[in-house]
Amino acid sequence: MNSALNVAKFGGTSVATYQTMLSCAKIVADNPQTKIVVVSASAGVTNHLVALANSALTSGQIEELVGQINDVELAIVQQLKQADEVNEKLNVLLEELTELAKHEEINFRDDLKDALLSMGERMSSLLFAAVLREFDVPASNFDVRKVLRTDSLFTQAVPELSTIKQLAKNLLIPELAHSVIVTQGFVGADEQGRTTTLGRGGSDFTAALLAEAVDAQTCEIWTDVIGVYTTDPRITDKARPLSELSFEEAAEMATFGAKVLHPATMEPALRQNIRVFVGSSREPEKGGTWIIKNCEHEPSYRAITRRKDQVMVTVKTPKMMYAQGFLQRVFTIIAKHKLSVDLVTTSEISVSFTLDNPPNSVSEKMNKETLAELTTICDVTVEQGYDVVTVVGNNMHSAAGVSSRIFEAVAGFNLRMICFGANPHNLSFVVSNADSDDAVKVLHRNLFE
Ligand code: ASP
Ligand code: MG
Repeated sequence: MNSALNVAKFGGTSVATYQTMLSCAKIVADNPQTKIVVVSASAGVTNHLVALANSALTSGQIEELVGQINDVELAIVQQLKQADEVNEKLNVLLEELTELAKHEEINFRDDLKDALLSMGERMSSLLFAAVLREFDVPASNFDVRKVLRTDSLFTQAVPELSTIKQLAKNLLIPELAHSVIVTQGFVGADEQGRTTTLGRGGSDFTAALLAEAVDAQTCEIWTDVIGVYTTDPRITDKARPLSELSFEEAAEMATFGAKVLHPATMEPALRQNIRVFVGSSREPEKGGTWIIKNCEHEPSYRAITRRKDQVMVTVKTPKMMYAQGFLQRVFTIIAKHKLSVDLVTTSEISVSFTLDNPPNSVSEKMNKETLAELTTICDVTVEQGYDVVTVVGNNMHSAAGVSSRIFEAVAGFNLRMICFGANPHNLSFVVSNADSDDAVKVLHRNLFE
C-alpha cells in the first residue's frame, strides 16, 4: 500500500547549519515520495552532549559546552523567516538540556545520559521541519519516541520490531496523509516511556527501522560523501565511489569499518528488500551508491575496509583438548557482557577473537568484569594496537585465485590473525596499527587500480 514511500535521512553535517539545511530541504521538496525525514543532531552537538554526559566537569566547563551547543542552534533559528514559535520551542529544549547537563547524577545514571544525548536530534528536527515549511513542504516535527520502542539498555538500546511496526501503523502512518514527518534519528523510548538511544551513529538505523515499519520502498541516507567508496578516500586518493552494492556486501563493509553507514542499517533493508541510497546532500546531482538485493555485477573484489583499534583477546586452557563446551562457556561470558565478537580463530588449546573498541563508545569493551569472569575458566591475554583490514567481495571462498591475489598483495606484512571462509563476501586479517594504512594501499593498488 505504501510501496512508493521514501524515507530520507540527513546526517549531522547535512543539518549542521541553516545553509546546509537548505540543500536538504530542496532534496525533500524535489521528491514527492519522501514522506518521512529522519535527522541527526547538527554536526558536533552529540560529541558535546557525550562530553557533558560522561565526564565530571566543572561548572565553567559545563557552561562552555552548553554555550557551544546554544550557538549552533541559535545560529540556525535566527535565519528562519518566521522564527518566533520555533524559537520558543527551542528555548524550552535548551532549558531541558541545561538542566540535564547540570544534574548532579548525570555521570552515573544512564537514563539521564540518554535523555541528554537525545537533545541534539530533538532540536535539529524541530529546526529542520521549520526550514522545510519555508520551502512550502507541509512538514511537522514528530516525536519518534511515540513509535521507536526499544528495550531499556540505555545508550545501546535494542529496538523492538513488532511493537515499532504496530505503533507506526497507529500513530505515524495516519500523519503521512497530510504532512511530511520530520523526526529524530538515534532516539527511542522504552516501555515506561523513558528516553533511550541506539548507540553512536544510530540515526541511519532509525531511518531503516522506520522504512521497514511503514513498508517504504526506498531509504536515502544523505551525508557528506557522494556514496560508498572502494576504500576510505583518506587512506588513498585512488579510492572511487561505487554505483551499486549488494545488501550483503554493504553489511560486511559497515561491520568492518566503512564509516558511511551504521552497521545495523542493513538488517531492516535486507528483511524488507528496501533499496538504500547513499549520497551527498551538498552535491545530490552527483548521484550516489545504491544498495540493492541483486546487483548488475558481482565482482570478486568490491571494497576494502579498515577498522581501527581492535582489541585482540586470546583465551587458553590446557583443558581444552577434547574438552567439550569450552568455546560455549567463553562465548556465554562474552554474550552476557553484551560484547560482540568479530573475528575468531581457534587452535587446539586456545581461541583468539577480536572485539571492537570504538573511540566514542560509552563503555570500554573489554572491561574488568568480563576479564575477571573469563579468568575463572582460562588464561586470558588482551592485546591492543591492532587494526582489522577486510576485503569485501563475492564468491571469495569458491572462485580460484581470488584469495591468493589478496595474500600476494599483503605478503610483506605480518598478519597476526586471518579469517576467511565463513561467508563468500569477506576476507579479514589483523595487522598492527602501524601497518594498516600501507596494507590497504597495497591491496587497493593490486585489486582495483
Ligand atoms: N547524533 C548521533 C551521533 O552523532 C546519531 C547519529 O548522528 O547518527 O552519533
Ligand atoms: Mg552517521
